[in-house]
Amino acid sequence: MSAPRLPPFPSIRDILKLYNLNAVKRLSQNFLMDKNLTDKIIRKTGDLAGTQVLEVGPGPGPITQSILKQIPKRLVVVEKDPRFKPVLDMLADSFSMVNGKMDILYNDIMKTDMETLFPAEYKKDWNDKSPHIYLVGNLPFSVSTPLIIKWLHAIAEHRGPWAFGRTKMTLTFQKEVAERLVAKPSEDQRCRLSIMAQAWTFPVLRFIIPGKAFVPKPDVDVGVVSFVPLVKPRTQHDFKLFEKITRHLFSFRQKYSIRCIETLFPLYCRKELGLMMYKLSDLDPTMRPTQFTVEDVDRLTTAYKYLTEKHPEINLYNYRSSRHLLPLSNTTDVVIQECTELDLLKETSI
Ligand code: SAM
Repeated sequence: MSAPRLPPFPSIRDILKLYNLNAVKRLSQNFLMDKNLTDKIIRKTGDLAGTQVLEVGPGPGPITQSILKQIPKRLVVVEKDPRFKPVLDMLADSFSMVNGKMDILYNDIMKTDMETLFPAEYKKDWNDKSPHIYLVGNLPFSVSTPLIIKWLHAIAEHRGPWAFGRTKMTLTFQKEVAERLVAKPSEDQRCRLSIMAQAWTFPVLRFIIPGKAFVPKPDVDVGVVSFVPLVKPRTQHDFKLFEKITRHLFSFRQKYSIRCIETLFPLYCRKELGLMMYKLSDLDPTMRPTQFTVEDVDRLTTAYKYLTEKHPEINLYNYRSSRHLLPLSNTTDVVIQECTELDLLKETSI
């Protein structure tokens, strides 16, 4: 007896008509209509046959169809908009005809606990090859950037899908953001996001999708980026501390980097400790932020950690807070009146 075959899927155009679905502007929905392009995204994601796949933001299912055609062992989709239930149910039913399993969660991916989504037998050692688990998504640009920051944080701490090893992911971004993620030192697009992404992963810009391939057409083109977590991250520092130094480093892109690094310190000791950071790191204070390698930022972070261990109150200094310091004659001459830790995960301006 021949193996059961996946029934042919209707086109996305027909699905939208059939289920009377339209893109909701408020949710920044743009649907990818070209099967060749969704197949290409999945080809670049990896060989999905027999694997566990998580797709974020399936919408009416164009990428979902391309995933299912590869016959993974199981697909989990996380979609915020319940209007897509009839079409996602239809895809899950079709997949069950080939004994495949597709689970549908109506949830915000930013609030989804992903660690419980995959079976324990898929776990691999961090130093081993990547596990047979893949994450894929074509999300709104306003979600994909905070999501990659959140995921980088989880990678650094081996949490969520990265408790299973070096799980690979493929996500779409506004073309300019995709270029920033992979920008090398001294390239125009080099920024905070480049440093953060490259400290923990190897990001590759796979290809560009023209805006006209989407309905409705966004104002920008789209870059497809894949990420493989590094066996040995390029920094051993805590994610939040490393992010803090990177954020300050890029506070004025065009100036000498020391002007940026000085913002880590209260005014009264800014010049002295700023220079000390460069001496300890053996770096040139006239370097521009865009010239820094990940290893340079790592050295700055080591220097900052050393200085804050000597003067713990410096660690609490918040450049953005308007009410921060009152000079006093205690051991360090400062007291922190108010300090609010920035919540980096809420920051989308990276
Ligand atoms: N994957 C489809 C495609 O390629 O045509 C739809 C892409 S559309 C740009 C983004 C999808 O992500 C929408 O279906 C939207 O409802 C969903 N979405 C937006 N924010 C989300 C979130 N926080 N969590 C889960 N899904 C989200």
